[in-house]
Parts: sequence; C-alpha cells; structure tokens
Amino acid sequence: MTLPIEESWFVRGMVKATADMWLKGWDERNGGNVSLRVFSEDLDPCRQSLTGDRTVPIGETVAELAGQYFLVTGSGKYFRNVQLDPEENLGLIEIAPDGKSACILWGLRGNGVPTSELSAHLKSHRSRQCVTKGTSRVIMHCHATNIIALSYVLDLSAAALTRALWEMSTECLVVFPDGIGVLPWMVPGTVAIGEATSTAMQKHSLVLWPFHGIFGSGATLDEAFGLIDTAEKASEVLVKVLSMGGKKQSITTQQLKDLGARFQVNPMPEALAVEKWIS
Ligand code: 13P
Ligand code: ZN
Repeated sequence: MTLPIEESWFVRGMVKATADMWLKGWDERNGGNVSLRVFSEDLDPCRQSLTGDRTVPIGETVAELAGQYFLVTGSGKYFRNVQLDPEENLGLIEIAPDGKSACILWGLRGNGVPTSELSAHLKSHRSRQCVTKGTSRVIMHCHATNIIALSYVLDLSAAALTRALWEMSTECLVVFPDGIGVLPWMVPGTVAIGEATSTAMQKHSLVLWPFHGIFGSGATLDEAFGLIDTAEKASEVLVKVLSMGGKKQSITTQQLKDLGARFQVNPMPEALAVEKWIS
C-alpha cells in the first residue's frame, strides 16, 4: 500500500493539532512548536515521499535518540498556515547515528529548518521516553495566554504553582498529578533552556517558561494538547478569581487527597504540603 505522506495519520494529526492551537490563541505569529515521534512502521506506506538530501546540525549530541524519527514544526513557521501547506511548515527528521545532526526526509520545503527549540524538544523526548518506558511521543510548546499572565503574579515554585492550579479546577490533580515544573526566565532557543526543560520533564509532564509559555508532553497529540488545555483553563479561572478580588474558599488539602485516592494517582507531595500560594 502506498499513501501520500500528507494523508498519513501523523501529518493529519499535526495539521489538526497546530490548527487547534492557533484557534485557541496560543500561537501568535510563529509562536509555539510541536514534535511527534514517528516509528519506522508508520513511515512504511509513505516511503515514496521521503528523500533525505539535506542534513541540519542539532548543535549538541542526543545519542540516545539516534535513528528515531520526529515530525516537527519548522522554525519561523506560522501555525495558522500549517493546514494550508504542511510540506512548507512541517518537517520529518531522522536523528543521525552519532546523535549530532538530523536528516530532513520530507517537508521544510526550500531551506526550512526545524524549530529553534529543537534542543528542548529532543532532550525532553529523551526524558519522557525514560519516565514513561517509551510511551511518550509528543512534546508541545505554546504561548498560552493565562498561564503566562500568572507567571507575573504567582510565586514561581513548582509546588506553589501546581497547588494553585489544582485548586482552580477539580480535574487538574487527576490530569497532572506530577505537577507543573517551573524554570527561571531563560533565553529561548538555547542549549541551556533545553537542558533545564528536559531536567524538569524528568519529574513533570508540564513545564512553565515564565513570561514566555508552557511545554507539555504526552503519548499522543490529543493527550499533550489536553494537558496544556487543562492547565490553561485552570489558569483562566485563576485569572478571573484574582480579578474578582481573590478566593474566599477553595478545594481543601483533604479533598485533593481524596481525589488522588479515588482516581488512583499520587499527587506531588510538595504541592499537597503548600499552605499558602498567594501573598
Ligand atoms: P520557532 O518558530 O523557531 O519554533 O520558535 C517559536 C517559539 O515559540 C520559540 O520559543
Ligand atoms: Zn516560544
């Protein structure tokens, strides 16, 4: 069976995810980037679409990912345009055997290159593959509005931010029991922010970049999107609560523990222990 790669589940999925992210208002201009791990057998029906005539340096070594394939968004590409021209805005890459470069097998027409956040994506894939025994396949970054706004007014600790979001929507603790990691402000597109993000991803499926955006991960595009959507929805509730003068009552520590027990998840202990998350 042969299939044009544009009709594969992974390109169609990426088109839908980026269109949804644009519609959510999370990805102005070229804001945001997504990478999806694709297996060799996923590529089998589309091999006729693959070339491999261009290689780009990764800028560091990710030897553990050698031979892995990722569908990634291109640097400087607008999410609102991905659906109009997937081949221009997306790229399928294969990590070279030495882990130092990536071969572009399809897409990024012309001289396009993978996202400038490739370091954060690849090393976060490495972290999440380890933590999830290989089931994690998606890293998603976007500029979700309310979580960025909160980074200006909340204490920037993983425990305090996690606790604040858990209290803003009952489903949060169940969706991200491991909490949300928080980095200090750092220059984007660098090996250093990639390293810090991937370290935080060893503990958390979500990581906040203050005054910039959020990174989420998941087994599928739906799962990563749903994770960010849940955190962003709770952030919107919190922005409204703060705008109305602050909370008068909330979900209690015992109720959070009860949620964890009912849904058989282990909530991040440091976040359960937080007594006050807003001054
Ligand atoms: P890219 O266009 O290079 O993916 O960068 C967008 C972005 O959000 C940087 O953090
Ligand atoms: Zn960004």
